[in-house]
Amino acid sequence: MDVSDANSLGIEVVVPQDDRAAPCCPHGPTLLFEKAGKGGAGARRFYACSACRDRKDCNFFQWEEDKVSAVRLLAREAENRSKRSLITHKESCSRLRKFASLRQDEKKFCRDCQTLLLPAEHEAHSSHRTTGISAAQLARPSVLLRPLDNKKSNAQYLFTDRSANFLLDTLAALGYRKVLCVGTPRLQELIKLRNLEQKHEPMKSLLLDIDFRYAQFYSQDEFCHYNMFNHHFFDGEASGAVLQAFLTESEGQKAVMVSDPPFGGLVKPLASSFSLISQAWRKLQSSDCSNMDMPMMWIFPYFFEPRILECLPSCSMLDYQVDYDNHPLYKHGKTGRKQSPVRLFTNISPRDIVLPKDEGYRFCAVCQRFVLSLNRHCAKCNICPSKDGREWKHCSTCKKCVKPSWRHCQSCGRCALPDHPCGVSPGEEGCFNCGSMEHKRRACPLKDTHRTSHGAKAKRGGKALPRRPLLKPKAKRTSGAARRAKKLAALSK
Ligand code: SAH
Ligand code: ZN
Ligand code: ZN
Ligand code: ZN
Ligand code: ZN
Repeated sequence: MDVSDANSLGIEVVVPQDDRAAPCCPHGPTLLFEKAGKGGAGARRFYACSACRDRKDCNFFQWEEDKVSAVRLLAREAENRSKRSLITHKESCSRLRKFASLRQDEKKFCRDCQTLLLPAEHEAHSSHRTTGISAAQLARPSVLLRPLDNKKSNAQYLFTDRSANFLLDTLAALGYRKVLCVGTPRLQELIKLRNLEQKHEPMKSLLLDIDFRYAQFYSQDEFCHYNMFNHHFFDGEASGAVLQAFLTESEGQKAVMVSDPPFGGLVKPLASSFSLISQAWRKLQSSDCSNMDMPMMWIFPYFFEPRILECLPSCSMLDYQVDYDNHPLYKHGKTGRKQSPVRLFTNISPRDIVLPKDEGYRFCAVCQRFVLSLNRHCAKCNICPSKDGREWKHCSTCKKCVKPSWRHCQSCGRCALPDHPCGVSPGEEGCFNCGSMEHKRRACPLKDTHRTSHGAKAKRGGKALPRRPLLKPKAKRTSGAARRAKKLAALSK
């Protein structure tokens, strides 16, 4: 079973009703998924890895109702243990201390193994590609380490200096002095570099990341090996205590969380982990914060806006375009390259987040937020409507603003791309279960019954849509990554 479909129709993460503990894979507790039945079968639930969306990376699979024998459980535990890293974080900290005290010519890094080498280990890596390491390089692990490029679950896209500096300047200006970096190693790195420069107010940071290579460079109160899809700390209690200590705002040092999860990630589990972090923060506040959320910034593509706001209603999306050094598509638009679709979702008041004028942002007094200059305020909609950075235009028939490339289609009764397949609304596939266009499968009144055997007469706006198969048999299964790339391409039209 491939769970990479889970952001689209067909497979969904479900929150278990009872508090039965989920079985564990090497990445901590698994998530419960529900797969809509095919050809009249009911939905089925199964457990699969929370972090890896490709079975090649973690092949854990268990039907919800499966009874697992004691023998099997023991074997599974042994397997989970065997997949843990060979060295503990504590051990890598003492290695780092040794490494720091070496003579300059003894400091080496193995590119093939992605590890710092102590003199006694040079011999064993002599046939590998190794390089000398300067103090400056040691301070920039995100440059030194090869970005993971696993397309499905763990592609690492590193911020450009422009975006990372913008984030830090903004957070500093808002008075934050502690930054919880959840999957943002480059941000943590920049914080430490800035502290050395002594030009800015010092900031504290704690990196939570699943990439254990970072443990080589940071002490135990600077890095925790963490899975953000199930709020799992691989080091257990010890890391939990580190997080608690970090979230305690002693001497008025305000804390904020910044996360940049992999884009293929599931919104619901991420939102639930962030809520747990927020809860932990709330419990530690001395003043009355019983109904407050921890300030946060969640960096994610704009087309996830509805999903994110559904899960975290106190957030809003900003126009700021986040861009990356090593992502061919997601670069800053000003030089004529493609505009980045990645945005900031935050529960900090949008009017307090000043977007740079010299990069083409302005303040909209009506919306009380900074927007791209091209994002003109529409008097009829009373918002600055653009999501993708282009100037949108108002359609008086649809009574809303739409993408500039869309035209109103008389037969569909809505705006769409000029070459759209007439009669099928893209992105509005309707209910996967019964074919109705009125709701998604999640809200289907027939959800727990069998799927209707033929397309129910789907109606939308009183107009019957042409019948189409509920589940198109796929000639060849495309990968989740390919599908997402296609979706991206379609969304930017
Ligand atoms: N733009 C960021 C990096 C984002 S790439 C920066 O420049 O700092 C996504 C990050 O999330 C990577 O660091 C990756 O290791 C981490 N990550 C991926 N899956 C994760 C998971 N399940 N739990 C925690 N961190 C994860
Ligand atoms: Zn090596
Ligand atoms: Zn409008
Ligand atoms: Zn229209
Ligand atoms: Zn339905």
